[in-house]
Amino acid sequence: MTEQHIYDVVVVGGGPCGATVATDLAKAGRSVLLLDRAGRIKPCGGAIPPRLIRDFDIPDDIIVAKVNSALMVSPSGQRVDMPIDGNGFVGMVDREVFDEWLRERAGRSGAERRTGTFETITRAFDGTVLVHYRGKGDPEKGPCEQIRCRLVIGADGARSAVGRREIPGAERVPCVFAYHEIVEWPKEASEAVDARRCDVYYDGRFSPDFYSWIFPHGTTMSIGTGSANKGFSLRGAVKDLRDLTGLDGMTTIRREGAPIPLKPLKKWDNGKDVLLAGDAAGVVAPASGEGIYYAMLSGRLAAEAAEKTLATGDARNLALARKRFMKAHGRVFWILGIMQYFWYSSDKRRERFVSMCRDKDVQKLTWDSYMNKELVRKDPLAHVKIFFKDMAHLLGLLPAVDADARRSGDRRAGPSLQ
Ligand SMILES: Cc1cc2nc3c(=O)[nH]c(=O)nc-3n(C[C@H](O)[C@H](O)[C@H](O)COP(=O)(O)OP(=O)(O)OC[C@H]3O[C@@H](n4cnc5c(N)ncnc54)[C@H](O)[C@@H]3O)c2cc1C
Repeated sequence: MTEQHIYDVVVVGGGPCGATVATDLAKAGRSVLLLDRAGRIKPCGGAIPPRLIRDFDIPDDIIVAKVNSALMVSPSGQRVDMPIDGNGFVGMVDREVFDEWLRERAGRSGAERRTGTFETITRAFDGTVLVHYRGKGDPEKGPCEQIRCRLVIGADGARSAVGRREIPGAERVPCVFAYHEIVEWPKEASEAVDARRCDVYYDGRFSPDFYSWIFPHGTTMSIGTGSANKGFSLRGAVKDLRDLTGLDGMTTIRREGAPIPLKPLKKWDNGKDVLLAGDAAGVVAPASGEGIYYAMLSGRLAAEAAEKTLATGDARNLALARKRFMKAHGRVFWILGIMQYFWYSSDKRRERFVSMCRDKDVQKLTWDSYMNKELVRKDPLAHVKIFFKDMAHLLGLLPAVDADARRSGDRRAGPSLQ
């Protein structure tokens, strides 16, 4: 059945990206329909930076934990603590609650919400777009419906169905596959985890080309890993990490995985009436896999580009979303891509990488850039210093591991070597 109403925009996908697009366009006075297939919690570590909390007005009660340090663990068991200065923190969210809150906000802003699974796009005789979807229930056999609109924004995540149908090359985005287990937080004090700390493991046994993590989520935690290597057992790696950290006995609530795209697409729009954003456009930071902030920012830029396209009737404006995003973050993505390629390729290099994190300048620059999403301009000399230190590490001119750490071989509860 085709509806007669013509929406300005249909947003496919109600994750952080799609919900942001729908909120912004509805607030701008556009008629928006947010189509989401619902019923599945997005597998995610749930770490978000303060910049996201500020820019997208996230209320404090959505944040289930506040983390004020990261513990980097190397293959030899070297443990480097990276505290955040002052009152700074990384927010942790539960995606089941966070995503629904964002969708509700889109609804409160005036967007219409609908449950359904996107199928394909065709064009009507008058040039409007017909979005075909399966309604509630079985995505294969549910009733097939059509909605009419002027523009479609594909925010349907990695391996986007909208992208595969409309944007050449969208099916070839390189991905890391990430898997995690949501585990009950220990009822009794445990040496293995700290409710205000994210643990990051750089160790070839747990990932041959990415990293593994233990992130606190209030009453639960996310224990996960990622790899682009198809033959590597992610489940086996998480089991080994849980065994190593003494978290094997804790109750597992969910086991789930999903691909993380690690390269922005060359084109996000079809030059006519479809634009991608978020994971669908490949905007996750290489090396860290951070995607929530970039999904929401690219969603905001997609909403601005759509608004301009609708206001002027000139579809070339759709390309503004990618242009503005890459201007702000393209260089950082490029640097992170090189870092991932270099530092995550062998245990010897991982060892050096963790050693490098002991440096106070490296810690400050890392946290400042993560928290605020801009390279700090206050102290340009710090960048120069880090560049030379980084080069020294790359060339092996600085020691990689504290000798005591190597000798002790204590990989679990050893003190921070900082
Ligand atoms: C295991 C794991 C851990 C991660 N940890 C972090 C982290 O700690 N911090 C961080 O910043 N990032 C993390 N990420 C990345 C982050 O989860 C994503 O980058 C982010 O969710 C992207 O948001 P999005 O809105 O673009 O896509 P998604 O969150 O994937 O949302 C897509 C939406 O589209 C809907 N959809 C999909 N197909 C259809 C269809 N055919 N029809 C209708 N609806 C559809 C889905 O139901 C979903 O609601 C992690 C990813 C993984 C896999």
